[in-house]
Amino acid sequence: MSIELQKITKSYDTNLVLEDVSVRIATGEFFAIVGPSGCGKSTLLRMIAGLIPISAGILKIDEQVVNQLPPQDRKLTMVFQNYALFPFLNVAENVAFGLKARRLAKDEVAQRVKQALELVNLSDFAERKPRELSGGQRQRVALARAIASDAKICLMDEPLSNLDAQLRGKMRSEIRELQQQLGLTLIYVTHDQVEAMTMADRIMVLHDQHVQQIGSPAQIYQQPQNTFVANFFGTPQINLLTVQHAVSDQLALDSFLKFELPTKLTAGTYQVGIRPGDLLVDFNQSQTNAAVRNLEYLGNQSVIHAKLDHGEEIRITVANHLAVGINQRLLVTAKPNFIVFDQQQRAVLFVRGGKQDGTDQIQQFQQA
Ligand code: ADP
Ligand code: MG
Repeated sequence: MSIELQKITKSYDTNLVLEDVSVRIATGEFFAIVGPSGCGKSTLLRMIAGLIPISAGILKIDEQVVNQLPPQDRKLTMVFQNYALFPFLNVAENVAFGLKARRLAKDEVAQRVKQALELVNLSDFAERKPRELSGGQRQRVALARAIASDAKICLMDEPLSNLDAQLRGKMRSEIRELQQQLGLTLIYVTHDQVEAMTMADRIMVLHDQHVQQIGSPAQIYQQPQNTFVANFFGTPQINLLTVQHAVSDQLALDSFLKFELPTKLTAGTYQVGIRPGDLLVDFNQSQTNAAVRNLEYLGNQSVIHAKLDHGEEIRITVANHLAVGINQRLLVTAKPNFIVFDQQQRAVLFVRGGKQDGTDQIQQFQQA
């Protein structure tokens, strides 16, 4: 079951929330919708579900226009953040609830409930009431309910946001496995960039009423189309360093922190985006260009917060634990992996290993 959005627009009264959202989601795809709180993720999902009207644009499911189709006829299921289970029904009854409403035969209902509970590893809990379950188990009941419905499209709105970090990690891989096993077309809304990166086949980034970028996790991370996307993905955050460019073959912050350009750029002001792991530090040089401001030890790596003499604050990750103190001097240089953004915050050049990379990937999702 494929889903196609053509220039979907939504306003609440005069308040424009989403404009011209277009994408084609393939059958069996795990598609994540990501963006900061309030950017319209739930609004978009509710329009796909048919719970709220679409202001403009066309929505197709399996090539059929469904704008006017009521939710129960759209052959999809939903799992929400506040997975509403009925407290007086046991687990099996909760899973069966939607099926009974559809007047399926008793045997058929029992069979589907059994299978769904097996898939989410809750067969032994069929008789329990929701209050006798942990948060993760309740979430799995909500998943089982979606699975039992046998719909080929599943919509999930921040389904893991009420769970603790450890359980979230476990549920991420469980949902991914189930999605693959059942061949579900899954549209998954989250504000959590890590969740989107680790689970999805493709990601759509929403911000400022518009689609900022659509791509695989690798494309989104390595070839962000603008500074918003670059900033949103990756921990610690990418460094964005402002550079005045006279026409030459490099962008230079100082005489050590320099970025060789494989292709010419016109004169002007640019931002160089460089991931914290693509900067190099040396504490044993007589010539230096920065001072340590802070050090975060994260176990498998450390993040150095430093201030360049040039004035900018930067983040650098190093693999080991460092014995360095505040104000200690260091030399910061860069690996030839970086992105150049223009004054409109748009990516104009991707460089990996000193070579121009994926410029054909530069998309035009921006408003003019
Ligand atoms: P997200 O799920 O990304 O956090 P929402 O889709 O819930 O964002 O909301 C997007 C914007 O639409 C917000 O500014 C919100 O205040 C507004 N909004 C959501 N629902 C309604 C509604 N029923 N009436 C008016 N404004 C709404
Ligand atoms: Mg929401």
